[in-house]
Amino acid sequence: MDCLFCKMVNRDIEPDIVYEDDHVLAFNDINPQAPTHVLIIPKKHIATLNDIEAGDLALVGRLQYTAAHLARDLGFAEDGYRVVMNCNDHGGQSVYHVHMHLMGGRRFTWPAG
Ligand code: AMP
Ligand code: ZN
Repeated sequence: MDCLFCKMVNRDIEPDIVYEDDHVLAFNDINPQAPTHVLIIPKKHIATLNDIEAGDLALVGRLQYTAAHLARDLGFAEDGYRVVMNCNDHGGQSVYHVHMHLMGGRRFTWPAG
């Protein structure tokens, strides 16, 4: 399968890893939008949020749980941070393997652009 993030899971491409366990991989975004910008992905290939099935619920929870733990470890949990998941064209998704953006280290505005 020609998927950039699967290639990172398989180490065909070497990501700048922040955290890894049996189910998820977290690595620094190549084009950071904040002082810290980490992508957290399931190791299982799921193309978009629309493709999540009942059997994936624990995995999706694990993405959020990992984000919260990383925010604490990286030191911006108390100040606050932004978590984003983009879906399809209007959502601004560019890599079709589900991922959670964890951004911290600055103040974010709302509404998102
Ligand atoms: P999205 O637009 O929500 O699909 O997010 C995809 C993210 O992947 C963007 O923030 C990109 O900067 C990031 N990205 C693309 N290629 C790489 C790469 N080789 N290593 C790390 N991050 C990447
Ligand atoms: Zn993939």
